[in-house]
Amino acid sequence: MPVDRYGVMGNPIAHSKSPRIHAAFAEQTGQALTYEAILVPLGGFQDALESFAAEGGRGLNITVPFKQEAWEAVDSRSPRAERARAVNTIVLGGEGRRYGDNTDGVGLVRDLTVNHGAAVAGRRLLLLGAGGAARGVLGPLLEEKPAALVIANRTARRAEELAADHSDLGPVSGGGFDVLAEEECFDLVINATAASLQGQVPPLPGRCLAPGAWCYDLMYAAEPTAFLTWAAAHGAERVIDGLGMLVEQAAESFALWRGVRPDTAPVIRMLRGG
Ligand code: NDP
Repeated sequence: MPVDRYGVMGNPIAHSKSPRIHAAFAEQTGQALTYEAILVPLGGFQDALESFAAEGGRGLNITVPFKQEAWEAVDSRSPRAERARAVNTIVLGGEGRRYGDNTDGVGLVRDLTVNHGAAVAGRRLLLLGAGGAARGVLGPLLEEKPAALVIANRTARRAEELAADHSDLGPVSGGGFDVLAEEECFDLVINATAASLQGQVPPLPGRCLAPGAWCYDLMYAAEPTAFLTWAAAHGAERVIDGLGMLVEQAAESFALWRGVRPDTAPVIRMLRGG
């Protein structure tokens, strides 16, 4: 049986869990494929994509820092990727066709609502950050019909622009962290900043958590992140890391490539060492 080739491109990439996730999906669904982590030098994305496609590669995941370059490199895009201006999944078709999608947002929403049973509709949401990950998740979050969604970011202008780009999808506003002083508290706070990578917590007023609030950090690590530790100390009812989102966005990519959606629960359990 021919074996189809897939991979993930990023820099750095050695830490990526995607090869393990996709190997588990392939085994579970009986699909013949390989999936490798590909380190791409900064400035070398276009060349790496051309080589992978020329060698017969069938699809790619794209991670930091190439999601925006991937958006530019494809010739057609899903509506959600179009709006996010970031692509994390490429389907390589015949005759050099390249289709780009962004599965980060649907991955987050599935992890929140299906795996954890979180309510988003009618709730007040706070999204921290306005980088690539925030861009990817904002549209799918607004499609869940929250009562309000406030974006707070270190660089206020980026949050304002992101909110303006999505204002037709729902009640969204954005600014610097100082906007939080004027806002009511939130039912769900989602950290899409890279602050946890540096062991830092964005400057949040403790009273921004409503009674029974849930907090979600897109970052995942063996130990609770600085943000989730802060959230637990400030009375959050539930704290959730981004491992489930990682597996769910991978399952969406896999379904796009292979036409079959794997069962994510055993793969999440495997990665948590259960
Ligand atoms: P980007 O570099 O595109 O954006 C970084 C964001 O974090 C910006 O909003 C930046 O603010 C903010 N930021 C960085 N450092 C600090 C700090 N010390 N304090 C406050 N804000 C800070 O990164 P991504 O958006 O791609 O990734 C963000 C996080 O999401 C990472 O931890 C990444 O691992 C995680 N992620 C998880 C996924 C999953 O599947 N679970 C998928 C994708 C990402 P400013 O605009 O001011 O620079």
